[in-house]
Amino acid sequence: MTPEAAYQKLLEFQRETAYLASLGALAAWDQRTMIPKKGHEHRAQQMAALARLLHQRMTDPRIGEWLGGVEGSPLVQDPFSDAAVNVRAWRLAYERARAIPERLAVELAQARSEGETAWEALRPQDDWKGFLPYLRRLYALVREEAGILMGVGPDPLDPPFLEVYDALLDGYEPGARAKDLEPLFARLRQGLRGLLDRILGSGRRPDTALLHRPFPAEAQRGFALELLRACGYDLEAGRLDPTAHPFAISIGPGDVRITTRYYEDFFNAGIFGTLHEMGHALYEQGLPKEHWGTPRGEAVSLGIHESQSRTWENLVGRSLGFWERFFPRAKEVFPSLKDVRLQDFHLAVNAVEPSLIRVEADEVTYNLHILVRLELELALFRGELALEDLPGAWEERYRAYLGVAPKDYKDGVMQDVHWSGGMFGYFPTYTLGNLYAAQFFAKAQEELGPLEPLFARGEFRPFLDWSRTKIHAEGSRYRPRVLVERVTGAPLSERPFLTYLEGKYTALYGL
Ligand code: ZN
Repeated sequence: MTPEAAYQKLLEFQRETAYLASLGALAAWDQRTMIPKKGHEHRAQQMAALARLLHQRMTDPRIGEWLGGVEGSPLVQDPFSDAAVNVRAWRLAYERARAIPERLAVELAQARSEGETAWEALRPQDDWKGFLPYLRRLYALVREEAGILMGVGPDPLDPPFLEVYDALLDGYEPGARAKDLEPLFARLRQGLRGLLDRILGSGRRPDTALLHRPFPAEAQRGFALELLRACGYDLEAGRLDPTAHPFAISIGPGDVRITTRYYEDFFNAGIFGTLHEMGHALYEQGLPKEHWGTPRGEAVSLGIHESQSRTWENLVGRSLGFWERFFPRAKEVFPSLKDVRLQDFHLAVNAVEPSLIRVEADEVTYNLHILVRLELELALFRGELALEDLPGAWEERYRAYLGVAPKDYKDGVMQDVHWSGGMFGYFPTYTLGNLYAAQFFAKAQEELGPLEPLFARGEFRPFLDWSRTKIHAEGSRYRPRVLVERVTGAPLSERPFLTYLEGKYTALYGL
């Protein structure tokens, strides 16, 4: 078989797998939005059957034969060619899938789903002791898996794994390594702490009560749809539906969906939540359709994905320009805002206050929450911290970094779903997303000029087009850190993010 023929075989086979997987995405969307209560049991069986089928396909020995027929051929000589990108990603996925014994894969899937179910039941009861055995099992299984992935190694274009945590991190942010994150996060912490102290010392107290007036869900939905349209989300290639835990999901080209949750007594959750998920969806809508079903056409990492959501939620959606455009309309839609001044509203949606809950955190304190989690995960996987000592270590770090400490487990160590699903190594992608976002945004302003005056006129196209060309259209062609360097001309740094916050909060808080 010629390399061309082998590559063709791979394309056909992997695309077929992608079509099957995207039916799973559709079923997952339905499961979290529309499914009738009594349909869950059957859906779980459907999903399990699909997972088995997909695993069989991913480990099909023919993949190995076809890959062997392409690797080393002129077809993949340029490492950034479509074929080279695809073949490398397929090889890694194939080796990883085959290295994990079926026994471990089944046990892990079971432990993840049992862990999440237990967390949902035990968190409201504040039952850390009851949750600990689930966490212990997950930790052991994930550690075993990470050990195996260490043996397989990373993509050949990425740095080697130096410790077991790297193998976990790499599953979410390819190429990220603990030894690079630690100094980056330490510099970030220093900058954030300084800014936070000045904000808290400023004496300015935003009137956040104005965000807790009546906001009927129907009005929120209408307003959210207006914002989606204005920003460039294609509603003929997507939809907006309510759910309990908001997410965006891509079914395929022409079908990228957003979900959100409305609180009738709180403005931020529904509107900024929608803008966040819209950012994820704009990325998916901007991926190259001709490469759909291959790695080249996929989002490159969770961090880059999060950079797009945080951009639209914060850098665009919490900017003064954005609300110069939309606040007059918001006052029409929500009579409860009639007497509110734009400046007070803008300050309120950007209010900074150290708190216990990550998902409610403002732009300044958010990454301090992530830092706590990264440090604890590293300590766990380096054998420096025992699971039963997590609550104490959690409290100590919250006191040190945020000046607050939880009174219970549910708003402390048990607040996030991630660990209950065995997702260790996931949290750093949130902070990476914030850093990428600011660095991309600064570059866009360098090339397009100041963006807020455009937002104030309702012109989002120039910035969206810039993101489309520079980031979305590239799919997974470049490794995340290479993409950042190519787009911005510099390696990832905490500086653009800190500069952005300095500028914004100096003005807001009169520092
Ligand atoms: Zn997100």
